[in-house]
Amino acid sequence: MPIEISDKTVKGEFIEKVMKLSGQNIQECFQCGTCGGACPMSAHMDTMPRKIMRMTQLGLEESVQESGTCWTCASCHTCTVSCPRGIDLARVMEAIRQLTLRKNVDLVEPSKLDEETLRELPQIAMVSCFRKLTS
Ligand code: SF4
Ligand code: SF4
Repeated sequence: MPIEISDKTVKGEFIEKVMKLSGQNIQECFQCGTCGGACPMSAHMDTMPRKIMRMTQLGLEESVQESGTCWTCASCHTCTVSCPRGIDLARVMEAIRQLTLRKNVDLVEPSKLDEETLRELPQIAMVSCFRKLTS
């Protein structure tokens, strides 16, 4: 299936920032797809990790950040131990999240959570959610 690309601008700065923040050489990814095959969350991702890596290599910042994949990533590191190139993809996902949040994008608005959610969710899940999904 072809990759849907919404932005046509290659952003070298985005590539550099992802590599610097993650400490990973994303250009070493050769698109084997092992990460997606091993990922326990891949069934819930709109874009496979392999494609996220390719779009990041190409500097397609908007397409990468429009995808929900890095937010679905559970940071379990299964891909990291599976990658034949030794790329810590979990850190790449974290770098993409950080760069998105630096744009002051809040994916959860704490004050808008309804009472039932506040009552039912475990506190640790709430704290984790705010840390991961708010800027
Ligand atoms: S760290 Fe994220 S992308 Fe990697 S296997 Fe776990 S959930 Fe999937
Ligand atoms: S397993 Fe590693 S080399 Fe293969 S697609 Fe994923 S990140 Fe790239």
